[in-house]
Amino acid sequence: MTEHLPGLRFLHSPGPTHLPDAVLAAMARQPMDLADPRVAATLAACEAGVRRLAGTAAAQPVFFIANGHGAWEAVVQNLLAPDALALVPGTGHFSESWARQTEALGRGVVRTPWVEGQPMDVDAVEAALRADLSGGRHRIAAVFMVHTDTASGTTHDIDAVRAAMDAAGHPALLVVDAVASLGAAPLAMDAQRIDVLVGASQKGLMLPPGVGFTLVNAAAMAVAAANPTPRFYWDWVLRVGDMPYQKFCGTPPLTLMAGMEAGLALLFAEGLNAVFARHLRLAGAVHAAVAAWAGGGALDFFCSVPAARSVSVTAIATAPGVDADAIRRTAREAFDVSIAGGLGPLAGRVFRIGHLGDLSAPMVLGALGGVQAALQQLRIPIGRDGVAAAVDYLALDSARATSGTSGEPR
Ligand SMILES: *Cc1c(COP(=O)(O)O)cnc(C)c1O
Repeated sequence: MTEHLPGLRFLHSPGPTHLPDAVLAAMARQPMDLADPRVAATLAACEAGVRRLAGTAAAQPVFFIANGHGAWEAVVQNLLAPDALALVPGTGHFSESWARQTEALGRGVVRTPWVEGQPMDVDAVEAALRADLSGGRHRIAAVFMVHTDTASGTTHDIDAVRAAMDAAGHPALLVVDAVASLGAAPLAMDAQRIDVLVGASQKGLMLPPGVGFTLVNAAAMAVAAANPTPRFYWDWVLRVGDMPYQKFCGTPPLTLMAGMEAGLALLFAEGLNAVFARHLRLAGAVHAAVAAWAGGGALDFFCSVPAARSVSVTAIATAPGVDADAIRRTAREAFDVSIAGGLGPLAGRVFRIGHLGDLSAPMVLGALGGVQAALQQLRIPIGRDGVAAAVDYLALDSARATSGTSGEPR
């Protein structure tokens, strides 16, 4: 795009997200010879950083030149033998997409139903696992769970899924898609007994799209090693080694990895607890705005369980006859605020405000201002002033934080 637009264009999709200047600067460098020790040092820093972010001491990071769908494919091809099944609990558009990709690769999928606006039905997960065991020989090799389903703005309870697996006594591996939550919400892969964690570069990690990755624990690596499924590029086992060329099954994406090293360093310099608290606070401001707008009767939270609303993205459902895509278009074209639309069956019925990654309070207020301006221009009734509600929320929240009495905002 060569057109000059004065000022900043606000990017508030839940990925790709805004890039920090330090990440952009780190990527503005010439490629290096792969034997240059700086390449190995960058890759080592990225491996250590994603481990720390994921809360694991020992899981093996495997990076792919791919997006999140590539990392999904790696999970399917490494964990599922040709006759194995995956249990995919229904969480919305992303669970369904992963399930279809798994089926396209020739594997069977057991789904649990998803109810719009609700968190995952964990009882149904336990029942599906028990049913799988009742036949004598179980076939479900892994549970593929989406932590934050970006399409529905809902975060699902990893510990509850783990508990359901334990209660059923099922030996399946637990795979968690943390693409939309890593870097925004706490994850403790080892303590939560997650076997494989899936991530991608363009969301909480504050990088451009282009790197998908998996963190693989020893149990999952052993399953992959014994899996006869033909594969090469996606094979975890082939990626384990010290050489940059081996880690990436070819040339590493040096520019993106340099950006990742810089982005991870920013998160650790801020402090992970501060990063997570910032996400909670900014989500709280967006939630305050949506709650105010909802008073007009034309829109409301898509996720009807407040505690399950994600810190990364808020999905807003529009009433019948209110075109969510028109809101999105007007926000972008008239007010330079990019938000996201509804995916799959939610197209035209939902718009989404991303609030993860490299964001500050005034950025979120600016985005809310643009969205509210779009609502007003389209003459969509809003109850109270959502921007003012967000300001109030932030002001009160800061007062609580500085007086030292704050628990978690929201
Ligand atoms: C964005 C996203 C993906 C897919 O990532 P792509 O990079 O677009 O392939 C998968 N899962 C979740 C939860 C996501 O938010």
